[in-house]
Amino acid sequence: TTVPTIRLNDGNAMPQLGFGVWRVTNEQAESVVAEAVRAGYRSIDTASIYGNEEGVGHAIRAASVSREELFITTKVWNDRQGYDSTLRAFDESLSRLGLDFVDLYLIHWPVAGSEAYRDTWRALVRLRQEGRARSIGVSNFMVEHLQRVIDETGVTPAVNQIELHPRFQQKELRAFHARHGIATESWGPLGQGTLLDDQEITALARKHGRTPAQIILRWHMDCGLIAIPKSVTPSRIRENLDVFGFRLDADDMRVIEGLDRASGRVGPDPAVFG
Ligand code: NAD
Repeated sequence: TTVPTIRLNDGNAMPQLGFGVWRVTNEQAESVVAEAVRAGYRSIDTASIYGNEEGVGHAIRAASVSREELFITTKVWNDRQGYDSTLRAFDESLSRLGLDFVDLYLIHWPVAGSEAYRDTWRALVRLRQEGRARSIGVSNFMVEHLQRVIDETGVTPAVNQIELHPRFQQKELRAFHARHGIATESWGPLGQGTLLDDQEITALARKHGRTPAQIILRWHMDCGLIAIPKSVTPSRIRENLDVFGFRLDADDMRVIEGLDRASGRVGPDPAVFG
């Protein structure tokens, strides 16, 4: 499988489909990430809070593909925000991963009620200048947070990784991203599994002779989104990557568009989370 890439606003290319490892233990991570790389994934999404950077790092170093072919994302957790503490947290992540650079470093959450994300962003700008983070971005940022870091530093995040799936399509934020050249990355792309028995999705799965997960991931691809589904089951890991041999038609896209709900979040609301 050749996964298409998305060109980021800093010129770097990011695989459109990657592998997420939230709730994968450090012990599991090595074998699960190895399985994902064997299946053809080249992009891995971890975070310091996931507690599995070491296991992910072992898999990366043991993989038969070179470091340059892989795209590794990690994130600074909420309690490490601020300029100096972010630089230290980054060093710790790199050493746990056993790497000398990451492809993408993200601010995990804006943290409601705090303005530390502004200094955190300045630290990420420095890490990019040093080349230790090849691209820098944010996660769970709302329009106000994005606007603020752009206004203050003149550096637009390359990526905003946000909860996004057919039941929570984030149209307003995606429109802002499009205006500013920010790539949209979908976390919880399958609604953390809650969308897989949706009637409209299962009907589309029957129509295409595909699985519900494949229909949903194909929708992310057709929307130009980056998606990072998670599974620890080898057959599902492969299934989730096998979405490039079919397309949804305009009717299918309309059906999925109709599943969007204002109340469709499965995860925390960044307006209050922190
Ligand atoms: P997801 O939407 O990827 O759903 C994962 C769950 O769906 C699995 O645990 C499994 O139960 C089920 N599943 C996956 N593939 C399946 C298949 N083919 N058939 C049947 N069931 C299947 O949810 P997620 O793990 O929350 O999100 C993906 C990744 O996004 C995470 O692993 C993590 O890397 C990232 N993430 C980031 C944030 C953030 O705040 N930035 C938050 C949550 C997740």
